[in-house]
Amino acid sequence: MPGIGPRPRSTTIMAVVLGLAATGCAPPRPNIVLVSIDTLRADAVYGKSNRRAETPVLDGLAERGVRFEYAYAPSSWTAPSMATLVSGMHPITHGVTKGSPKAFNQKILHGRIVTWAEALKEAGYRTHAVVTNGHLLADLGFDQGFDTYRHLGWQGNGNVVTRSLLDHKEEIAGSGEPWFVWLHYYDPHLSYLWRYPFAKSESIQKLAEKCAGYRGNVGRVTSRRPNWTVCARAGYLSEVAATDAAIGQALDGLGVRDRDLVVVAADHGEEFREHGGKEHGFTLYEEVTRVPLIIAFPNRWHAGNVVESPVGLVDVLPSVLEYLGIEPSHLYQGKSFLGLVAGRGEQRPLILAVDRFRRVIGIVDGRWKLLKIGDKNRRFELYDLANDPHERKNLYAERREIGDRLDEILVDSYQELKRRRFKKLKTRDFDRDEVKMLKAMGYIE
Ligand SMILES: [Zn+2]
Repeated sequence: MPGIGPRPRSTTIMAVVLGLAATGCAPPRPNIVLVSIDTLRADAVYGKSNRRAETPVLDGLAERGVRFEYAYAPSSWTAPSMATLVSGMHPITHGVTKGSPKAFNQKILHGRIVTWAEALKEAGYRTHAVVTNGHLLADLGFDQGFDTYRHLGWQGNGNVVTRSLLDHKEEIAGSGEPWFVWLHYYDPHLSYLWRYPFAKSESIQKLAEKCAGYRGNVGRVTSRRPNWTVCARAGYLSEVAATDAAIGQALDGLGVRDRDLVVVAADHGEEFREHGGKEHGFTLYEEVTRVPLIIAFPNRWHAGNVVESPVGLVDVLPSVLEYLGIEPSHLYQGKSFLGLVAGRGEQRPLILAVDRFRRVIGIVDGRWKLLKIGDKNRRFELYDLANDPHERKNLYAERREIGDRLDEILVDSYQELKRRRFKKLKTRDFDRDEVKMLKAMGYIE
């Protein structure tokens, strides 16, 4: 069986598997919800109280499930990261890596990839999606395997996503068959609006005290104004809190219970001048690549566990399928992390890459992270994440032997991922109305 770790040894799972063999009748499949949140950095959910949003719903899921402390997006913008989450393949191989800000000519996902929806449909699930963000349009290939695929444009209000889902609750949950739902929320993405009543929470108000005059769209306010970083961040955190509430309503409305499986992840983070820049898609520092990942397995399997080893979005689909006892596609490049959840299993290096505005590739191996920045005049940066989680001190010159070791793995892995790359992907051009909207949003000039 290619590309898969050991089967789960959990008593729960083994009981299900053995029960199936003994009685000859199919065990109930858990319903599955995949929630992806755009632009959500890990510390907005996991961080210290003055740096994070209030997220009682995500906290509750982490309590009844497993929290991955160091989960990495493979890239720092939507298209490559989401293509990886849905396909279990690395951006360098699935090939959805470009989308020029001028032409916005995103590649279409290859038809051969085996998405969550396709794998689960094959296993008897009904499959439904409600998503936002133009990078996830149906005809960009993200609708593969779905019975229904509702795309809500660039909807930045999670309540609308949730409402659209619950308007079709009967269609989703009424058939008696197990169902899979994918929800994508876009609220934390620029623009950052002050979302009430969440903006009135104590932690956000502490930040917002310095923000007299910052009302409306904080992200659009010029970054030269005093306290921009703090105020943009306060607005951003209120968006995160609002998303959390919308997710809670979706899960409640669908009647999700302890026996169901819920995955929450994000496509990338957001920078607030930590390394000089804003937004995302330019670098591979922690603020844009480290994302929350929470999985509530059925019946509180390993409830409350925190996995400290780095894992990638690329690993999520193979892990969930292994949990369900579903044969993974041989195309998957991620590895199941169920062993790590159960307190065993080995960590492995993760490859990161962004190639939109500037080419950067990188590798995370345990506590070490190496970045190779630029094509010509390439620059190396090496960080010890255990002692320097904010990547302030480049140790490349000082710890050259570690840098060289990581570079060797990076070069080999990159070549292997590239060798398997899908060739001649089709491109989808945006029509006139879409271009108009993208201009209004500041995506293109
Ligand atoms: Zn995104």
